[in-house]
Formats: sequence, structure tokens, C-alpha cells
Amino acid sequence: MYTTTVIIGAGHSGLSMSRRLTERSIEHVVLERGEVANSWRKERWDSLRLLTPNWHSHLPGMRYPGNDLDGFMGMPELVEFIDSYAAAIDAPVHTQTTVTRVAVSSSGFQVTTDRGEWDCTALVIASGAANIADVPSVSSAVPNSIEMFTPLTYRSPDRLGKGGVLVVGASATGIQLADEIHRSGRPVTIAVGEHVRLPRTYRGRDIFWWMDAAGVLDERHDEVDDLVRARHVPSPQLIGTPEHRSLDLNLLAQLGVKVVGRLGSVKDGVAQFSGGLANTCRLADLKMNRLLNRFDDWVVDENIDVVEPPHRFEPTSVPSAPTVEIDLRRDGIGTIVWATGYRPDYSWLDVPVVDRKGRIRHHGGIVRDAPGMYVLGETLLRTRRSSYIAGADQDTCELANHLYEHLDGHEAGSRDPGAHHGMS
Ligand SMILES: Cc1cc2nc3c(=O)[nH]c(=O)nc-3n(C[C@H](O)[C@H](O)[C@H](O)COP(=O)(O)OP(=O)(O)OC[C@H]3O[C@@H](n4cnc5c(N)ncnc54)[C@H](O)[C@@H]3O)c2cc1C
Repeated sequence: MYTTTVIIGAGHSGLSMSRRLTERSIEHVVLERGEVANSWRKERWDSLRLLTPNWHSHLPGMRYPGNDLDGFMGMPELVEFIDSYAAAIDAPVHTQTTVTRVAVSSSGFQVTTDRGEWDCTALVIASGAANIADVPSVSSAVPNSIEMFTPLTYRSPDRLGKGGVLVVGASATGIQLADEIHRSGRPVTIAVGEHVRLPRTYRGRDIFWWMDAAGVLDERHDEVDDLVRARHVPSPQLIGTPEHRSLDLNLLAQLGVKVVGRLGSVKDGVAQFSGGLANTCRLADLKMNRLLNRFDDWVVDENIDVVEPPHRFEPTSVPSAPTVEIDLRRDGIGTIVWATGYRPDYSWLDVPVVDRKGRIRHHGGIVRDAPGMYVLGETLLRTRRSSYIAGADQDTCELANHLYEHLDGHEAGSRDPGAHHGMS
């Protein structure tokens, strides 16, 4: 079968691109291995709510439809939002269709699925940036008696076995899971590496209001100093709750969670943690304060009406001699949760555009080594907003324009252009 463009993935990114292509009368299909919004249906824990406020989650042509603009969607509500978007834009989604191979072909790309083959001139990869839990190799040294989970397999505390829990990683996922598991009555230890500390609210406004209004989320991929590093910055320590509460290491420690440094190794059942916890936390505090300074300067420069005066949060309090070793069995650790990040799965991509770390080489979503190929949904793809649902709006607009021009060029070079795509 031939279609002008194949989009892989019916998450919010793939659907937003579908809407952009429909606007430009570009014939396309969206191939989805599960259902619409599959990742949010199948790969998230039960209690998860977005950490971005509802007003922030908009898609091309659709705003959050509910009344709770300042609230945070849970998974059922988010799935309904994305489902209703797919219906509203009449996206040509083929569900239960898994892409197993993509190769270069004479027309552009050949897409093989478990339900047939497609040829296309342009390809949009919107298969998600969090398909695989990025578990460090040290996990292989963990004693067999300890049960291990990742954020993709963890659902709720009541499914964990007996004993204490070690959560490795203190970004959004790690601190949320440490909090939830601790509240279920289990002793929790959290191993903390590099992290981004942010308060939920500052001077009476949600932190996303600040980042949005002060232009932080508009910083472009070609403007940041060290793009590779910026794309690997962990997700911020935030949680979305009806109470709009902050969640950081101080709060976890006050609740009774044991805070230790980065997990370095496991040998003979003994986990060793970095002694540099104080430095790691100091750096995170410094960066948070730098960002708050930027907001305060912006308020003054732009004469913005913010009632509450500037203030600073308590520095992260770290034990003077943090624990650097835990004998996992002797200390009763029954479970480890690896909250150590995610990575995409491009194992089906048979085009040499993937780097050694398994990431597609692209320039703002344009895969220059394979003209006509685009990628969506990655961290800082085009702007800092790209890391969030809201980023798809602008990203897909800009990339759809590029794709349109690519098709135009392709059409000019082909003998029978009308046969290749449905642009009128
Ligand atoms: C735990 C977590 C919490 C997050 N919280 C927030 C938040 O609060 N706010 C926010 O704005 N963003 C948040 N994000 C970030 C971001 O919005 C998500 O990563 C988002 O899911 C990306 O959307 P997407 O459409 O690009 O990918 P996905 O939603 O992952 O969609 C990709 C789709 O592609 C399909 N697919 C994959 N491989 C194939 C294949 N081979 N063949 C066919 N189909 C395939 C999948 O089934 C899936 O439906 C969070 C991410 C995670 C992991």
C-alpha cells in the first residue's frame, strides 16, 4: 500500500502531527501498536497525575476541556482527553498495528508491520521517548531474592513484596514513587544522583506559570549552550496533587525516607552509595535559586504584577555523614525500584540514523541523514516545551511545514506527482 506519510504512534505527538497533515491536505495514516494513548493506558503507575497543570496541556486546535484548569489530570482523564482529540480530528489511526521494520525504499520509506506493508514518501516517528526503562548495569549484581521494578512495571505499593524498598533515582518519578511507597507504610531509602529541584509554587504562582510566562520553555534547541547535556537533564522534582504540594528531599526526609547518595555499585549484596550527596544537593539548590533569580528579575524588568515578594526555600538538608553502604539483605530491602530514566526503542528502525546511545540523530526533529524522516516527542526536540504535552502544538506546526516542503521538492522531481500524494 502507498500513502504519502506514515506516522508511527498514536500518542499526543502522532495525533497532533496527523491534525497538521490533515490541515495541509496531506494523505497519511497513523500506525499504533496498541490503542490511542497507549503509553498512558498501559505503561504508567495507577496513581500518576501529570505534573503539568491542566491549562498547560493543549494540542493543536484543542484546549483542556474541563473546569479544573489549575488541577493535574490523572491517567483516566488524560486518556479520555487524547481519545477525544483523536475522534475530534478524525485521525486515520490503525490500532493494533505494530511497526516491525522501517527501511529506505525507492519512494522514500518502506514500513513493515504485523498487519501488512506501507510505502511512503515521508515518515514521522512519534513512537515515544520512554519505551524502555533505562536500568543501569549494576542491577545485574542485585541478589535474586530482591524483587525489582521499573516505572513501566510498577503499579501500586500493594503489589510489592514484604520488606524495605530502595528507590534508585530522585527525579520526578523517583520522588513520587518514594513518597507513595513510604506512605503505604514501608521503609523507603532513596538514592539521589543529579536532580532538578523545583518548588510547586513560587510567589503564589505555579512553577509552570513562571516557566511559561518568563520564556524558559521557549528556549530553542539551537540556542542552548550544550544541547547534548540539556537533552539529558533529569525531569524536575515535581508532583501534581489536588493540594498543589511541593515534594523534595527535605519533605521526604521529614516523612522518614532515608536519603542516600547516588548508587555506585552492588557487590556481594552490599550496595555502595556516593559520599557526594551534599555537593549534589547543593548544586540542585544553586540551580533552583538561579532560576528563581531569573524569575524575580523578569518581574522587575517587565513590570509584572505579582503580589507575593521574592523569597527562598530552605537549602536541602543532608546528614553530615550520609550512609554510603547498605547490606541489602541484612537491612531488609525486599524491593528495588529503578527510577533511573527512560529511553526510546528504535530497534525496528533499519535506517542508519541512530547513534551509539540509541537516539536518532536529528536537528530539531528533522532527520537530515534520511530526508523525509521526522521524529517527535523527544526532550528539548525544538524548544524546552517539547519535553511536555504542550510542546507538540508548535513542534508539529513547524515540522509539518518542513514536511510539506519536502513533499513539494519530491513532487517536482517525480514524473507523476499526483500519484504520490493527495495534495490538492
Ligand atoms: C512517567 C511520565 C510522566 C510524564 N508526565 C508528564 C507531565 O506531567 N506533563 C507532560 O506534559 N508530559 C509528561 N511526560 C512526558 C511526555 O508527555 C510523554 O513522554 C508523552 O507520552 C510523549 O508523547 P508521545 O506521543 O511522543 O509518545 P507516547 O505517548 O509514548 O506515544 C507513542 C505511541 O507510539 C506507539 N508505538 C511505539 N512503538 C511502536 C511501534 N513499533 N509500532 C506502532 N506503534 C508504536 C506506542 O504504543 C504509543 O501509543 C511524562 C512522561 C513520563 C514517562
